[in-house]
Amino acid sequence: MRELAGLAVLLARLEDQLQACMRCGFCQAACPLYAQTGREEDVARGKLALLRGLLERSLAEAEEVRRLLERCLLCGACAAACPRGVEVMEIFLQARAALGEYLGLPAAKRLVLRGLLARPTRFHRVLAAAPRLQGLLTRPARPELDTACLRLPGRLGRRHLKRLAEVPLHRRVALRTAAADARVLFFSGCLIDKVFPGTGLATLAALERQGLAVEVPAAQGCCGLPALAAGDRDSFLALLRHNLGLFSRPGVEAVVTACATCAATLRRFWPLAARELPPAERRTVEAVAARVQEVSTFLAAVGPRVVHRPRPAPSVTCHDPCHLTHSLAGNQAPREVLSAAGARLVEMARPQDCCGLGGSFALQHRELSLAIGRRKLEQVLATGAQVVVTSCPACMLQLSELLSQAGAGVQVRHVVEIYAQALAGEEAVPA
Ligand code: SF4
Ligand code: SF4
Repeated sequence: MRELAGLAVLLARLEDQLQACMRCGFCQAACPLYAQTGREEDVARGKLALLRGLLERSLAEAEEVRRLLERCLLCGACAAACPRGVEVMEIFLQARAALGEYLGLPAAKRLVLRGLLARPTRFHRVLAAAPRLQGLLTRPARPELDTACLRLPGRLGRRHLKRLAEVPLHRRVALRTAAADARVLFFSGCLIDKVFPGTGLATLAALERQGLAVEVPAAQGCCGLPALAAGDRDSFLALLRHNLGLFSRPGVEAVVTACATCAATLRRFWPLAARELPPAERRTVEAVAARVQEVSTFLAAVGPRVVHRPRPAPSVTCHDPCHLTHSLAGNQAPREVLSAAGARLVEMARPQDCCGLGGSFALQHRELSLAIGRRKLEQVLATGAQVVVTSCPACMLQLSELLSQAGAGVQVRHVVEIYAQALAGEEAVPA
């Protein structure tokens, strides 16, 4: 067993926050994972107790605590429900970083995060070859949802995966990258760049129809959340610094993204990590973070243009991403944008319920992820809506797979796509 004193030192900075938990258990009712398993170690209270055990050295199994800490969607529902205001997400992310520093990263994660994700140019180049291969490695599943199955036996071959775009967003907007007078910068994020470029184009179209000049800085990197969630602080800081150089230009009024997860990472977790940076760099991070806006929140603030539809609008139901619900401004803005677009909104029973993706959680705990997702699927189908909309491409991935597996004829769209299509006089689906 390794000497635990070093880990206790790394965790010591969390001591006050860990003590703030009064063990009331209010977080149980909010946790989508606990709703599936009923296991105390799956809910915030249990995880905080494990961290206290490591800190006080009454527990010695650091690797096991890391495994249990990573069994979490990082949805933030527990923090939102906590009457003591315990900063659960901040604690979890800092504890993952401390455990990553103490235990090191597994080789596969190191390879993906440090060898690929943290090097944006290499990441873009390697992923550029992938769409050519996917035709060989996959067969179509549901063309209307653009999903495909891997040509593999067993469980992997039964998954309905969203296909990579043939041309990523950053290659479609090359001419838009040099708008020197632009006051708005667009942060695409990996999923919009590589899987949902249409969402990125819709965002740019919507912003430009508001009369805004928008620049898309070239060579953007990942927001860093996969590295932060894996406890890889070095890769996270490398990505933060890379993007900071692109988004800290003077005169910029807003950094807009169509990914609720990226928005939460840039607004909340960049400043968290920046606490340990030199003061000047920390101030730059905080200034950029304060300008970051999720696109529907931004559009609602500037006042979306109201569309007068010549035909009945398609019916949509709105899934609220956890990062928008619990970490950002909440769920009203997407509804304001949908209303301006003239969409017929049919609310599902609990739009704020998690879809079950949770980033790498969906890879490591696929069955649990799907079980949480199926409850969301039932709600979507019960509305009878033609389209399910949301504000996060990660949720769009999960919803696409769930609907594809179910053979349901419901489309998946981003809120801003509905808005941009309405502005252009198009329908999201045939009316
Ligand atoms: S709701 Fe907050 S104070 Fe109560 S057990 Fe959960 S984390 Fe602790
Ligand atoms: S972040 Fe979500 S999944 Fe993780 S403990 Fe909190 S409520 Fe549960």
